[in-house]
Formats: sequence, C-alpha cells, structure tokens
Amino acid sequence: MAEESRASVAPSRRDQEALAARVAGPVLLPGDDGWAEEAWTLNAAVDHRPAVIVGATGPADVQAAVRFARAHELAVGVVATGHGPAVTISGGLLITTRRMSGVAIDPVARTARVEAGVSMRQLVDEAAAFGLAPLAGSAPSLGVVGYTLGGGLSVTMGRAFGWAADHVRRIDVVTADGELRQASEATEPDLFWALRGGKGNFGVVTALECALFPVTRLYAGNLFFSGRDTASVMHAYQRFTAGAPQDLMSSIALLRMPDVPSVPELLRGRLTVDIRISYLGSADDGRKLIAPLRAAAPAELDTVTERPFTDFGQIAPGPAEPVPSVEQFALLRELTPQTVDAFVAAAGPDSATAVNVIDIRHLGGALTKQRTGGNNAVDPLDAQFLLITSTIVAKGQGEERKDAGLELLDPLAPWLREAKHANFLAASDATAQRTRKAFRAPTYERLRSVKSRFDPHNAFRFNHNIPPGQG
Ligand SMILES: Cc1cc2nc3c(=O)[nH]c(=O)nc-3n(C[C@H](O)[C@H](O)[C@H](O)COP(=O)(O)OP(=O)(O)OC[C@H]3O[C@@H](n4cnc5c(N)ncnc54)[C@H](O)[C@@H]3O)c2cc1C
Repeated sequence: MAEESRASVAPSRRDQEALAARVAGPVLLPGDDGWAEEAWTLNAAVDHRPAVIVGATGPADVQAAVRFARAHELAVGVVATGHGPAVTISGGLLITTRRMSGVAIDPVARTARVEAGVSMRQLVDEAAAFGLAPLAGSAPSLGVVGYTLGGGLSVTMGRAFGWAADHVRRIDVVTADGELRQASEATEPDLFWALRGGKGNFGVVTALECALFPVTRLYAGNLFFSGRDTASVMHAYQRFTAGAPQDLMSSIALLRMPDVPSVPELLRGRLTVDIRISYLGSADDGRKLIAPLRAAAPAELDTVTERPFTDFGQIAPGPAEPVPSVEQFALLRELTPQTVDAFVAAAGPDSATAVNVIDIRHLGGALTKQRTGGNNAVDPLDAQFLLITSTIVAKGQGEERKDAGLELLDPLAPWLREAKHANFLAASDATAQRTRKAFRAPTYERLRSVKSRFDPHNAFRFNHNIPPGQG
C-alpha cells in the first residue's frame, strides 16, 4: 500500500479519554471490552489491528475522530459492514459507521437520504414501503455507501439504468482537515466527481442522497444444474446473453461448496452450476426469454418466478456469516464459445481447482460503452462480463494467501481486459500500480489531483489507494 507519509504515534489511555469526551459513540483501545465486535469484518480472512477504534454515531463523531487522527498523525480507515476489507487496517484509527443507520425517503422526488451505516436490506425495505427501489447490489448486508462510492453494480437493474454512482445527488463527507462538506454538482463539484467511483480515498462519507426507481416486482430467481452439465449449461448461457435485453440482469456461477452442515444440501460437497436471473419485464416475457436455459439440461432446482423486489437478496446472496475467503476479479471482454470451452477445461467437472466460487456476471447495456450516466469517476467499461473467484482460506490468512484463485485466470488470458473496476479490486490488487487499472489515465490523474487538495497527507490510505499527485 502507499507509503506512510508521516510517522504515527499510538494513542495512550489519556488520549482515549480526551477523545471519548468529544464523541457520543465508543472509543476503544486494543483489549478493551467490545474491541473484537467493533473490529469485526464479514471476511474472516482479514484481521484489522488499528491503534484505536471510534464507533461513530453521527457526523460530529466522525469530525472529532478525523481531527484526533490528524493531531496524532494516524491514518484513517472506515468499516461499515466489512464486505470490502481486502486491505488490512493496521496501526491507524478505525471509524465504524454501523450506528449511523438513518434513511429518509422522499416519495415525490423519488430519492433516499442514506446514512453511512445503512445496509442494502434496510434501504430496499424502506423504499418498498413507497413502491420504490434503489439500484441494489447482490447481498442484503452490503453497505449502501461503500457500494455506491465504488460504482455500485446492481444485480437487478444495472444493465437498464447504469451504475448506482450515476444516480447520486449529494454526498456529505468529512475530509482530512475534519471539515464536514456537502458535495454536489453545485457545491464542491470536484470532490463530488471523485467520491463517485474513487471510493474511500477522499474522506468519510456521513450520508448520501440517491435516486429511487418505481420498481416493485421482478421475474427472478435461480436455476441450479448438476456440475456434470457444466458444458451444456455454460454454452446455453453464452448464447442467451448474446441476445439478452437491457432490462435483464444475469450471472452464472460454478459452485464448489464444502461438505459442511451450514451449506444447503443441494450444494454440499459437489460442483453445482447456478444461473441467476433478474428481469424487469413481465413474467410471460421472462419465461420465453429463459426457455433456452431451462432446456439446456434438467434443472435440479428452479426458483425463477414473479417476486416482490424485496426478494432481491435471493438472487446472488453471498455469505451471511463470516467466511475467510480470498477473491480475485477480472473483466472479460466477451464470452465466446471458445471462452466457455476454456472455462469448462479450467473449472468444470474434470478440474481439480480449489476455487470455491466462480461467478460470471453479465455487464453491457447502461454499464458499458453505451453508458450515458453521470459525470463521475466511474469510467465506461469495455467489457461484457465481470469474473469473480472466491477461495476459502484459513482464518486470518487473507494476506498470506492473497493470490489464491489467480491461477484460474491464466487460461482465460485471451479474453481478459487489463482494466479493473473499483468495487472489484482484490487484496492482490492493493498496490498503486494495480489500483490505477481501475481508472482510465485522465480519470486517475484527476483523482490524484483532487486527492492532493482534500487529503494531501494521504490520511485515507487503508484502501485501494490513490496517492496525492499533481494531475
Ligand atoms: C458478498 C459480497 C457481495 C457483493 N456484491 C456486490 C454487488 O452486487 N455490486 C457491487 O458493486 N459490489 C459488490 N460487492 C463489493 C462491495 O460493493 C464493496 O466491497 C464495497 O466497498 C462494500 O462496502 P461496505 O461498506 O459494505 O463494506 P466495508 O468493508 O464496510 O467498506 C469497504 C470500503 O468502502 C469504503 N467505505 C465504506 N463506508 C465508507 C464511508 N462512509 N466513507 C468512505 N468510505 C467508505 C472504505 O474504503 C472501506 O474500506 C460485494 C462484496 C461482497 C463481499
């Protein structure tokens, strides 16, 4: 990660008391009661070891924490839900935001004001009460703010409406000087541009306002097939995506789940192929569209049906409990019959791969070249698919095993893009060299220039770091 630009001093008990007097939430030093719960992350492969933790309850707590970090020359990290902790927080100040959980819906303007600790589940449920829906990501426990700052790839509406970051109206953020700023097109436009795509590099976001869509139902669910049918199912999926309309999102996953009781019986200790479908059109049209997938092989379980939008979390849920795992991400230019053959050879029923999940998500539509979305730091992608691998490792071994799963990318090299995407950067991408691949050159240079204005000492560096620079 980026070099520490200033020496840091571990806070003492007296420092802790002085900070605790200024914040409403808990201030913890290592070993204090509640420390482990506060430093918790979903991915148990990562073991955060900050020098001090502040459990923020609102913007004033965040300001006090950032000012304290500045005075003590500590770097600052943020954890909301712990879904993206690829970069270990070591020796700095950690701000946790889960207590900041307010949502305010404006049904007339069709917007939501979302505080920093709000989960996708909470926002979806509160918006649904007004017949509205956000551009939700896959896992209900995902943090809306962290997801949106990295672009926000919606598994229900991304191809139809673009990135979640394209639909943000305003962001409240505490910058490295401890000031609370309101960033929008009208005020602090450079900061507003950078925050939407440049992620946690520019400050601690306390709340954001985003657009909602009048969507209340989906034709959605999963088709599970035996791993023996990997080749026929993947080829059918390849043909299916070539003609898919923009209001249909889908992905295909090869699942090799461990043989343990916490895994559903259907998936336990074997290879299963899971096609995930989410369609905004009618159930009749949806049935016609996915008929070739249903005909590809006998489904072992078919849950694709008309559903309320609030079922979004059943499409591609991810782990509910902490699982130590290492992810790798890559962008696939296209999926051809030859790509499918290469996948089947590398990860199909005859492969000995140790990778537990291979998820291929269909991009395109409003997410890629034709994108008409916001003026922000999310660059248009020249890739039709996102590839995610996940390998279960021993607890706390995230750093050591950070390359797990990379071997699977080698046979796919002819179809892989060099470019990356901010929300899908792995622990193995946590160098300045690799992080910059998430941005086109002019975007990266502008991000560095905004960083040097708002965080010249790189206080926010426990992330895929964008170092300050001239631009
Ligand atoms: C199971 C799973 C499913 C996922 N599905 C999707 C998906 O469908 N679409 C998608 O686009 N991404 C997805 N992701 C990636 C996810 O969006 C990113 O990892 C995101 O950063 C998670 O944010 P968080 O707040 O939930 O996690 P955290 O680990 O709490 O935060 C991750 C990072 O986000 C930044 N951050 C969080 N809160 C703030 C804040 N208030 N101010 C400044 N920076 C902040 C920080 O850099 C922090 O290190 C998924 C990840 C997982 C593990």
